Amino acid sequence: MSDVKNLVACKSCKRLYDSAQLKTSGQTACRLCGGALTKDWQGYLAIIDFEKSEIAKTMGISDNGKYALKVR
Ligand SMILES: [Zn+2]
Repeated sequence: MSDVKNLVACKSCKRLYDSAQLKTSGQTACRLCGGALTKDWQGYLAIIDFEKSEIAKTMGISDNGKYALKVR
């Protein structure tokens, strides 16, 4: 797993992205919703199977991956 310090979060859907991967791909916004990305987030959870996850339902998550719990 990559270092969490290198992760940036989407301000809208809270999806986390690896900043090194973003640089490589030239991505500057959230791949899912197009939201702005920020380094200012706290705590995260990993969704492995969003269709079976109650937390994913509660948070409105519709894709597997890592998500921030709090984004400022
Ligand atoms: Zn997003």
